[in-house]
Amino acid sequence: MATLFEAWQGVQGRIAAACTACTRNAAEISLLAVSKTFPASDVRALYELGQRSFGENYAQELSDKHTQLADCTDLIWHFIGPLQSNKTRIVAECADWVHTVERVKIAERLNAQRPEHLPPLNVCLQVNVSGEASKSGVAPDQVIQLAQAIAALPRLKLRGLMCIPEATDDEVKLAKQFQLLKQCLAHLIEQGFELDTLSMGMSSDLELAIANGTTLVRVGSAIFGARQYSTQQEQQ
Ligand SMILES: *Cc1c(COP(=O)(O)O)cnc(C)c1O
Repeated sequence: MATLFEAWQGVQGRIAAACTACTRNAAEISLLAVSKTFPASDVRALYELGQRSFGENYAQELSDKHTQLADCTDLIWHFIGPLQSNKTRIVAECADWVHTVERVKIAERLNAQRPEHLPPLNVCLQVNVSGEASKSGVAPDQVIQLAQAIAALPRLKLRGLMCIPEATDDEVKLAKQFQLLKQCLAHLIEQGFELDTLSMGMSSDLELAIANGTTLVRVGSAIFGARQYSTQQEQQ
């Protein structure tokens, strides 16, 4: 079995190869290591190898790891899970980034709860690019309206857009959904928003995301291995 180091290097190799294939510079792509369900000791091990950005899906798990790794002062925490009102305080206090803002109400709570001593919370809007009714995210034609509301909140800094495409192997479909997110970002930039982040691509589709303009890939299992969910996490 590959070591954590080998797996992490392997993902960086995939990113580099995908960039070469579409003549992008690998320095344009950030690697977010998605550590949900894995222990703080794994995060620490990867941090010691040089990884700095980590993604978590569950507020309580983020809070626990944030405490356990408080000595890793330049570790950057990204919250990438569904965000309910009763969990915004933890995220406002522990995260550096949130990728899953889809409602003004949640944004207002994060803005009000962001501690004074911390810089503004970096925010991406989650966009429902597949149009599936069950999917989280704001509809593409509502993105501007939500972005305008968030621009008025001083404790949040809007950085870009995020998507989770349809669960399919159909690369044509996936590419269309990635392109839609890219177009939404371009549209916002045309309207004067200063944005630099397209959060799309995971273990199975990071190459396709890179070919379609991503700037941040969120990679879990290809680095840490297969996840085993506890009953408690499934209920969150
Ligand atoms: C779990 C998760 C990931 C990582 O998925 P892998 O397939 O393990 O790479 C990325 N993004 C989000 C939003 C996730 O919930």
